[in-house]
Amino acid sequence: MDAAGLDSNGHGFRNAEEMWREEIGLGERVEEDATSAPAAKRHAWYRKGISYWQGVDASVDGVLGGYGHVNEADVKGSEAFLKPLLIDRFGNERRHLVALDCGSGIGRVTKNLLLRHFNEVDLLEPVSHFLDAARENLAPEGDMKEDVHMAVNFFCLPLQEFTPEIGRYDVIWIQWCIGHLPDDDFVSFFKRAKVGLKQNGFFVVKENVAKTGFVLDTEDSSITRSDLYFRDLFKQCGLHVHSSKDQKGFPAELFAVKIYALVFDKPKGGRNKKLRYKPAPIKERRRS
Ligand code: SAH
Repeated sequence: MDAAGLDSNGHGFRNAEEMWREEIGLGERVEEDATSAPAAKRHAWYRKGISYWQGVDASVDGVLGGYGHVNEADVKGSEAFLKPLLIDRFGNERRHLVALDCGSGIGRVTKNLLLRHFNEVDLLEPVSHFLDAARENLAPEGDMKEDVHMAVNFFCLPLQEFTPEIGRYDVIWIQWCIGHLPDDDFVSFFKRAKVGLKQNGFFVVKENVAKTGFVLDTEDSSITRSDLYFRDLFKQCGLHVHSSKDQKGFPAELFAVKIYALVFDKPKGGRNKKLRYKPAPIKERRRS
């Protein structure tokens, strides 16, 4: 990523490479030995992220950085994006759907969105007091009916250490947590997670986006990437952007938020097809 970036104290970086070299020792000689400088720096990077969240209340307001009131707009935006996608990828027939909620926090997305559309949802979250709250928030109520929608597995792990069970998920949902992963761990996460998707399965990434380059948050060791930065990384993962949309209705002082649906198969159709089947109007236009 060539564009320049900033950190939360206003310190500038010429490009992402320079920032990652400072933050996690990228480009320094990498040794398997965990005591080597780059390994220790990376460890400290992740440690800081986890410590930050360990000090945050296990509430909607807590996981939304004091902006609990955006929950409703967030869920509405996600639902409008997800519903047509489910039909496009899996058809109109009702079938048993399974999702994974990554960096799930207290289970806000699972409770308000995923359980409405998926029969089973697994949660992945490295901070144990959040995951405990999620277990409580998502405890099954009343009698279990046959067509029940429920949270099934609660994995207390960070993304960079997780490999999913083969072919378990229709959708892997990643919201407001991927900024904790440096680029190389970002790319290897998606490459590993590929095996977890069923046929036609897809990822959803919903994240803050910077106007250009990136913004490093030194308080919780996370970065906000630009749309271009994300797209460059998706390409490195072998992912195609099936569709994307801007989240609307958030307070103006917040970062813009984008939602991406990502697939490993190349989306069908496109301009070439139209050109092949409708050559006449194109010729007409050229003549005039
Ligand atoms: N996605 C949830 C929570 C957002 S808060 C929601 O939208 O409500 C950010 C979450 O990312 C926190 O729960 C935090 O513990 C988690 N997180 C921090 N580092 C992570 C990592 N390396 N891998 C996965 N999740 C991480």
